[in-house]
Amino acid sequence: MKSAENILAQKGIRPTAMRLLILEYLQEQPAASGLSALEDAFDHADRVTIYRTLKTFEENGVVHKIIDGSDEAKYAVCFEDCDESHHNDMHAHFKCKACHETFCLPDAVRLPLFPAGFRVDEISFIASGVCPRCKS
Ligand SMILES: [Zn+2]
Ligand SMILES: [Zn+2]
Ligand SMILES: [Zn+2]
Repeated sequence: MKSAENILAQKGIRPTAMRLLILEYLQEQPAASGLSALEDAFDHADRVTIYRTLKTFEENGVVHKIIDGSDEAKYAVCFEDCDESHHNDMHAHFKCKACHETFCLPDAVRLPLFPAGFRVDEISFIASGVCPRCKS
């Protein structure tokens, strides 16, 4: 995995301490994180700063937003080659009913290709069930 510093440099985002911390945190998570989880993890930072950081990341193709049907959006680091004009996160997500975590499934499940002429800007495919960790 690329370092947080490399990713920010590559996307042309100024690497402030807060941005580096949040990106490193997101890289370490096995599942996607919501704003409230980030607030808990960075209780010295204010909510607006965290939110703006996520927005900057999202707008520059660093993280993608996942709408999983819970009351807040979740964010996960992009695996695909995303940039400021377009996200290519055409992977499915999995929401665990036991731990309520939402995981990216980057390799396991690919979404169908769309017919020529359709440009997909946003897509949401959420499978729900029990994750391997909760199953045992
Ligand atoms: Zn993306
Ligand atoms: Zn689980
Ligand atoms: Zn994802």
